[in-house]
Amino acid sequence: MAVTLHDYEEVVGSEVMDEIRTVASHVRHKSLQNINSTPVGGGVAEILTRMIPLLRELGVDASWDVIKGDEAFFNVTKSFHNALHGDDESISEKMLEVYRENTDANLRDMNFTGDVVMIHDPQPAGLILRKPEIGRQWIWRCHIDVSRPDLITWNFLKPYVEQYDAAIFSMPDFAQQLPISQYMIAPSIDPLSDKNKDLDQACVQKVLDGFGLNPERPILTQISRFDRLKDPLGVIRAYQLIKRHCDCQLILAGGAADDDPEGKEVLREVEEAAVDDADIHVLLLPPFSDLEINALVRGSTIVFQKSIKEGFGLTVSEALWKGKPVIGGAVGGIKLQIINGVTGFLVHSPEGAANRAVELLQNPDLRQKLGENGRRHVKENFLITRHVKDYMLLMLALDYPADRIVQLTAA
Ligand code: UDP
Repeated sequence: MAVTLHDYEEVVGSEVMDEIRTVASHVRHKSLQNINSTPVGGGVAEILTRMIPLLRELGVDASWDVIKGDEAFFNVTKSFHNALHGDDESISEKMLEVYRENTDANLRDMNFTGDVVMIHDPQPAGLILRKPEIGRQWIWRCHIDVSRPDLITWNFLKPYVEQYDAAIFSMPDFAQQLPISQYMIAPSIDPLSDKNKDLDQACVQKVLDGFGLNPERPILTQISRFDRLKDPLGVIRAYQLIKRHCDCQLILAGGAADDDPEGKEVLREVEEAAVDDADIHVLLLPPFSDLEINALVRGSTIVFQKSIKEGFGLTVSEALWKGKPVIGGAVGGIKLQIINGVTGFLVHSPEGAANRAVELLQNPDLRQKLGENGRRHVKENFLITRHVKDYMLLMLALDYPADRIVQLTAA
């Protein structure tokens, strides 16, 4: 059954929904076109899938288009992604040329229909070149941490970024010095999606059975694309240390994203590291495995997100919402979601992750307390209702560039 605004009211309350409706009534005359680089896989696609229908139900003409690119382009943009996160990548002039060529092709093929065009991440950032010709309001929505980037990559992207009307970052730590307005808007999860909605125990049980997991024994889980920055091998290392003290099973579940060409290789490395241990379950999930992922997390005792670098890390909120204690790398947006010792634990190494996991496995009350706190933290800060409101407020703010306060009246 389709989710309606009324269903959200039951989760966040009528006051929050009234406020959202009021803001929506002031931006309904504008269309919002989102453009990113993959229709499926990864956090951006996850958010847009849920947000577009919600905005439309609120009366905002929201749409979503995806750029095209050849294999070389996505290899280049994956290198950009790693380089912007500060990794050592050698970015050549040839690679920059591949980016320019693919940008030109997309500029030829795409229609820019939005009054507000929201471009997500670096892959489609070059589309701003159309702005002088067609006008409109352009927002660069950066989901990654560009605060300490590889300079060749950033100096290449910056002239594009500077042409936007505004940039959005997920947290202040991620931002850069820019001559345009910058907004801080954290991402969100949808509590009513298949990924996050309540499931009954029988459904959870069935999924665990299907994957050969024993619900009587503790289950540790990380849900992530097979990406080195998510540190799946570090999770296996932590699990091996935990296993010296406590019985447990490990799930590493992930899928591929169209714009991530490294996934296969990392999956191979993970499978190799897990080959001798029947308690490590490496699951390559097809797209749209949302109910399975929901059930795997609900069936878990502890959830890991042991990233070495991270954008926001939606998987953390997804787990906290389900009342799970999360052990996460102390990086990126994970630091917004895990309040150390309150909603989970922040760690810096496999050893640290293992120590915290053993502590949690030995202390069910602590697990429960962190889980309760985590759910509350997500409810107050990281649900889609807050996110939609922030985007609409930004659309509104763009119409009043000189005003610090915009007075709204109920519709
Ligand atoms: N995800 C999924 N299937 C997978 C692995 C991940 O649906 O096999 C989802 C995950 O539940 C989350 C999103 O993809 O909603 C990943 O977002 P996150 O911000 O954690 O990381 P990203 O992949 O964007 O770096």
